[in-house]
Amino acid sequence: MLRIPKAALVLLLLFLVGCNPDPEAVILLSGNTMGTTYHITLVNPGELRSDELKKDLDFQLEHFNSIASTYIEDSELNKLNRSKVGEWQKVSPPLYAMLNIATEVSWLSGGAFDITVGPLVNLWGFGPDKAHGVPADDAIAAALKNVGYTQLEMDMLEPKVLRRAAVQLDLSAVAKGYGVDAAAVWLESLGVTNYLVEIGGEMRVAGKSPRGDAWRVGVENPDPNATETLPIRLAEIAVATSGDYRNYFEEDGVRYSHTIDPRTGRPITHRLASVTVLDPSCAYADAMATAFSVMGVEHTLEVANRQGIPVYIIEKTDEGFASRHSKAFEPYLKEQ
Ligand code: ADP
Ligand code: MG
Repeated sequence: MLRIPKAALVLLLLFLVGCNPDPEAVILLSGNTMGTTYHITLVNPGELRSDELKKDLDFQLEHFNSIASTYIEDSELNKLNRSKVGEWQKVSPPLYAMLNIATEVSWLSGGAFDITVGPLVNLWGFGPDKAHGVPADDAIAAALKNVGYTQLEMDMLEPKVLRRAAVQLDLSAVAKGYGVDAAAVWLESLGVTNYLVEIGGEMRVAGKSPRGDAWRVGVENPDPNATETLPIRLAEIAVATSGDYRNYFEEDGVRYSHTIDPRTGRPITHRLASVTVLDPSCAYADAMATAFSVMGVEHTLEVANRQGIPVYIIEKTDEGFASRHSKAFEPYLKEQ
């Protein structure tokens, strides 16, 4: 038998600890929420236990879903959508926070993002009502009559809102991002400083990855023939991607995306395949990614360059797929 002197054994152990991250020092949590999946990685989480964390997290996510989902019949959002028009309605703090961000992005984007897009989403078969195929023109015109973000009034001081008309609020393009932010803040309040939180492709990172350096995440390539993803290096930021390649239907060779242009009442048709937005707030990045999808490549790059927003776009060309990015995105592409 090989004998190792005790002192050497201690050294060897120290060496191992220094080289390989202790498997105990990484916690992976995953599960289902908001009609999709979540994945969380924690590095050096101290005394926290993975089973307790998951229980707390799932409980909170389930409650969260019962607030913001349009698929749950008696969710707080659906109740608000059925409440009396013209009367102030009190809402829970998370609902108020999401309504605030979605209203802000609606106004900022001039209605490219529209918090009241719900009836159109449903009509095109991307909501709780399982409609199929391309709707008739008069059905689109009728749904458009009930769309208009200017019909929602927010109170500045208290969590209450007023629908001036019978608009239907839809938070699907901000809820996952908001859930990521809420989970990140919860983890931070538990003392976790190194984490990656991801819900349905929207994510936020802080601190270090299990390798001990900056987090690297891949932007999915919409090209079905591509095997590679674009790696970007991140610290303390959120990433959201909107794309027309995951949720769509095809009819007569035309692809209809789940992102609707609220001004025409129809799915976007331009050549933008995906938009990735970085921002400290995942909710904001999530909503902006949808707004930019509606705005199209040139308008998005113009706005992103003017306002210093990091944006990465993949567009369809006659030769295949091509990428473009705003100036503020450049630092994230360097030295992989
Ligand atoms: P993506 O990852 O493509 O952004 P999301 O689930 O984040 O997908 O957002 C898509 C959802 O947003 C749609 O299913 C719909 O409910 C809603 N939506 C579609 N078009 C708009 C729009 N113009 N403004 C706001 N929300 C929209
Ligand atoms: Mg999104």
